[in-house]
Amino acid sequence: MSFYSEAEPVRGDVLPAAPGISRIVAPNPGGFTYWGTNTYLIDEGDGFAVLDPGPDSESHLVAILKATGGRVKRIVVSHTHPDHIDGLPALKAATGAPTYGYFASATPVFTPDIPLHDNDVVAGWTALYTPGHAADHLCFARDGVVLTADHIMSWSTSIVSPPQGNMTQYFASLRRMLAREDALYLPGHGPGIPDPARYGNFLLQHRLQREAAIGNALSAGPQTPGELVLALYVDLKPALRPAAERSVLAHLHKLRDDGVAREDGGVWVSV
Ligand SMILES: [Zn+2]
Repeated sequence: MSFYSEAEPVRGDVLPAAPGISRIVAPNPGGFTYWGTNTYLIDEGDGFAVLDPGPDSESHLVAILKATGGRVKRIVVSHTHPDHIDGLPALKAATGAPTYGYFASATPVFTPDIPLHDNDVVAGWTALYTPGHAADHLCFARDGVVLTADHIMSWSTSIVSPPQGNMTQYFASLRRMLAREDALYLPGHGPGIPDPARYGNFLLQHRLQREAAIGNALSAGPQTPGELVLALYVDLKPALRPAAERSVLAHLHKLRDDGVAREDGGVWVSV
């Protein structure tokens, strides 16, 4: 079992994702974004819903407007990280479409016109509140297809970085997805995931293994997050060390929530 990959898409191309759903990959490739953010175009017959405008990019905006003929009925936001919402003001200005997002936005730069709560329905899609990667993260489910955004990505694990990211919530949100029976995940970065149950379980096992390794390391003696990274991540590039440390810290917070670890002046111990 492994992650999914795809060739770099032709920039601006409209890629089929599922019946009535296509995506345009934004031109913001990078170490945390793969080839770029997926902007999904959902055909509603008399116009389109756009999920995640993506970064602030003139060429990406032009591609969205061309693919939709400017007929954007609504702009839906999965969560408020910059690579998903920085392009929102320009798309809203160009189309006048109302915006939808979690009612408790995690950033002052975005307040949805239409605030969503868990299980609200938008154009047939059920909003699933799925915090963990971000405090205001929503997935959207309809007829076995789930737009999973950054909660479940195909090319990599999700970043869970405190305090916005929360590992206890991430596990709960992942288990919520596993309790469903879906046929296709369409993530915020990377290609579609055709085997949600198997893939979701792979992600869960991956996190459980990491959690167990951290628990084992702690039982050998007190450790800082930095020491745990050096002990647990083999061949880690120095540039990726800070991100690994954020992930380890998120795991430690969960172990604390679970009552099996505690922090004392930056050093973590088993209890
Ligand atoms: Zn994100």
